[in-house]
Amino acid sequence: MPRRQLPPPDRVFQNQAEVESFDIEMMRLALGLAQEASELGEVPVGAVITRGSQIVSRGYNLRETLNDPTAHAERIAMTRAGRTLGSWRLDDCWLYVTLEPCAMCAGAIVLARPERLIYGAIDPKAGACVSLYQLVTDERLNHRVRITSGVLEKECGEILSLFFQERRSSRKISP
Ligand SMILES: [Zn+2]
Repeated sequence: MPRRQLPPPDRVFQNQAEVESFDIEMMRLALGLAQEASELGEVPVGAVITRGSQIVSRGYNLRETLNDPTAHAERIAMTRAGRTLGSWRLDDCWLYVTLEPCAMCAGAIVLARPERLIYGAIDPKAGACVSLYQLVTDERLNHRVRITSGVLEKECGEILSLFFQERRSSRKISP
């Protein structure tokens, strides 16, 4: 069966201010998902995929729960978005994630071809979008994604540092 041609998105953003407020709203949603991950003892990272005004999919890190090294928030959200849209190509989609994607996820983003990637905190240790590699903007690859970084950066970073702090202190208590 050939790939389904997606209809045009239902909303066209008129100006940068509209885009910015939508970005913040969606990143708040992604932060809520990160919090859900945290409650399961997962590293708190959350992701949301939108198309026009529609939320296509959500995901949060489930690596421990699923014992799956690939169960990162944005990878799960991309898989779900493909199912929801009936298309592996995430044409015109915007991917929100609280943390800069790793090499695996950045690779998957290039394959999925969303229009934009919006992330909160930078990941200097493993980020593959600006930090260690620039996979999603590499001109040798057949798709390049527009990046917006630093949306709710402080909150997205704090939820991670709090999680690791708590994990360290609970380890000290239990032998
Ligand atoms: Zn990843």
